[in-house]
Amino acid sequence: MTKNLNLFNTLSNKKEKFAPIDINKVGMYVCGPTVYDFPHIGNARPLVIFDVLFRLLKKIYGKNKIAYVRNITDVDDKIIESSKRNKKSINELTKIITKSFHEDCKYLNCLEPSFEPKATEHIQEMISMVTNLLKNKHAYENEKHVYFSVSSFKKYGRLSNKSSDQLVAGSRVEVSKYKKDPLDFVLWKPSDENDPGWDSPWGRGRPGWHLECSVMSEKFLGKNFDIHGGGLDLVFPHHENEIAQSCCANKTNNFANYWLHNGFVTFDKEKMSKSIGNIVTISRLRENINGQVVRLALLSSHYKQPLDWNEKLIKESQNTLNKWYGQFEKTDPEEINEDVIIPLLEDLNTPEYISKLHLLYDESSKGNKKSKVKFLAACKQIGLLEEDKQSWDNFKKSKAKIDENFINKKIKERNGARKKGDYELADIIRKELEDNGVAIEDKQDQTEWKYK
Ligand SMILES: [Zn+2]
Repeated sequence: MTKNLNLFNTLSNKKEKFAPIDINKVGMYVCGPTVYDFPHIGNARPLVIFDVLFRLLKKIYGKNKIAYVRNITDVDDKIIESSKRNKKSINELTKIITKSFHEDCKYLNCLEPSFEPKATEHIQEMISMVTNLLKNKHAYENEKHVYFSVSSFKKYGRLSNKSSDQLVAGSRVEVSKYKKDPLDFVLWKPSDENDPGWDSPWGRGRPGWHLECSVMSEKFLGKNFDIHGGGLDLVFPHHENEIAQSCCANKTNNFANYWLHNGFVTFDKEKMSKSIGNIVTISRLRENINGQVVRLALLSSHYKQPLDWNEKLIKESQNTLNKWYGQFEKTDPEEINEDVIIPLLEDLNTPEYISKLHLLYDESSKGNKKSKVKFLAACKQIGLLEEDKQSWDNFKKSKAKIDENFINKKIKERNGARKKGDYELADIIRKELEDNGVAIEDKQDQTEWKYK
């Protein structure tokens, strides 16, 4: 393909033409999950966004020319806390969550990354990087802790475009009596007897969180590579710290050339948080919604914009796919027209791409075979309509069965309200059923319902 890909680079704070270091091996690293709790809809967004980018890069540079690395953080304070709270061994906990995460990825129709390294499998490389940073005076040891000395790296703050003072003032930085400077961050810390730990020159301990991404990206992609992605919340301190560690340990000026960050997901306009109790886990969604619907909903906003997760969005995505599946047909893989993917080449403009899919659908539904193939190929490019129609219909039916009791219960409640003359309540129940995709009709002596 000859078309140019433009991506918004957080590092330069502008849209840039993407030029890979080596067109035969384009490297992309995306920070993966910390496996301490079931991933939620906020975690699903980068999975789907970077999967779309992965598919696009394959289309541009060739199927086997992309190295996509997404790590698994299986050692972290959050894991230790969660294992104690849930009375599960660390091994058991991380296995359960990792398995569930992989099911989430499959459900969302994400391609497997080229490499999926685990932090615990790279401890020796992390110890080497810390040793190197100490030797070059970019780090210091203090009572079995090793800290990175932020003042030793002049470019610190370049990614978030803030000075050190602004960073300290604007964020929560970890407080510790072992630090010389508030921005310094931990590279290695001692472990209690019962916590996971590895022998090191500084005693038995474990790595700081940021270290693993510096080590694993280098192992699979080299000291300088093309794209680094993640959620907006990772810009500072995580990504800022990755850059500092890697550039200082490798004595390089650049780490990743293009930094891409996706926006937050809110739930009914509220921030999702454990304390409010409005976290939507992907495993919970799996029980009630087809993964294609979630995928389309996540792509409906531009990746840099915030995305609000709500019933209306799910419903709209469901209706769109219902309609689109009307055109489904098993087709041979078709080369997609270059002009179709133009919106994706402009910094992954998925909302515009989806508008284009609607137009292609309209063409396709006129009965022209060529238009249909074009429409289906364009859907597949972003990982939609890859599931055959049978499983799409089966999923709907299985959901219908589950809902039947609920519907009958609600109709009974509504009829009870009508008998008492409480038409306001009756209307509320009708609306609730309608919002759940059920239309009701009052006949002479009974109420009939059907799925819309
Ligand atoms: Zn990372």
